[in-house]
Amino acid sequence: MMRRTHSAALTTCTMKGRGLFVPFAHGVLVLAFMAQHLFAAETSSTQATAKPAHVHAGKKQKDKAHHAANMQANANVRRPDTAGPLSLVVVGDIMLEDGPMDAMRKGQDPFAGFASLFAGADIRIGNLECVIATTGSPEEDKPNVFRVHPRALPYLKRHFDAVGLANNHSGDFGPQAFTQMLSLLKQSNIGVYGGGMNLSEAHTPWIIERKGVRVAILGYDEFQPRSFEADTDRPGVAWSEDSQVLRDIRAARSVHKADVVIPVMHWGWEEPIANDRQRQLARLMIDAGADAVIGGHPHQLQDTERYKGKPIFYSLGNFVFDGFPLPINYIGWALRMELDKNGVQKVEAHVSHIDPNGLPKPGKVLADPTLR
Ligand SMILES: [Zn+2]
Repeated sequence: MMRRTHSAALTTCTMKGRGLFVPFAHGVLVLAFMAQHLFAAETSSTQATAKPAHVHAGKKQKDKAHHAANMQANANVRRPDTAGPLSLVVVGDIMLEDGPMDAMRKGQDPFAGFASLFAGADIRIGNLECVIATTGSPEEDKPNVFRVHPRALPYLKRHFDAVGLANNHSGDFGPQAFTQMLSLLKQSNIGVYGGGMNLSEAHTPWIIERKGVRVAILGYDEFQPRSFEADTDRPGVAWSEDSQVLRDIRAARSVHKADVVIPVMHWGWEEPIANDRQRQLARLMIDAGADAVIGGHPHQLQDTERYKGKPIFYSLGNFVFDGFPLPINYIGWALRMELDKNGVQKVEAHVSHIDPNGLPKPGKVLADPTLR
């Protein structure tokens, strides 16, 4: 149904305080889509099992027993050397200015609603759609630019192992602010993907190993017009150039020795159904070896699918964000995935309801939407 070409893409995640045109037909699609996903059966109680992140020593026995049971249950489909599973939580777009910053100024944690989901996961990541800096100057003629005070860092650090920088707001205050953000995140021991001090850094996956499984996360922006792109001698974001993306995915395995490779994309229109471009690239990425494809930017949920058995989530919607005009902008998914060396073994979508101040509250837990 998407007839526009990718090169004409001018969708924006800068709709704060502005009118958002959504044709009636799309409204119907939104309703049908939301009904399909939101009224599906719950799989479990979402936030029930809090446990400290990255706890290994005290849990070794339990993990071992769990692992053995899991191996037994899946003996016919898993290799004997399978490790894990580990849990990965991925959330959508995080914008910490305005309502979320007001909350933090009062000492309120904007992520508190999902604290137990994060605490119970081995790896936690999300798309940071704002600059964290005290320097730089706003990009001229950009209707909405987001820069937040470094007081946001302790909250991010509490809940996230790494954040994605490949989006259309990382460059809002120029290279100086972006560079400051990179060093602030590094000081806070928060990893990054999809951005760096140069082309090579921006295209290097964030690698993390948990429970014997080595995971590579890559990030790419393709919001038009092409801008704030890292180059050989210039900081910026990783651009979604197909050939480069596919090379990066292959290198994540061959050079970085990852067992599981997940590209996180910043793409698409502000519509409930992914466009042809997204579908085409998702397939190419999986053909190149991606174990899952996860996207954001449309500021609403988009449809999902499986390709060659691998899950594709075209858009997780907003996670922490305010200033939007429509109810669909205030709902998103926090994905909880279980990974082992063979890839993604299980997915749950934890529905988040974002309040008017941009803060997410947990809702239902949906069984893997890509299997419906
Ligand atoms: Zn965006």
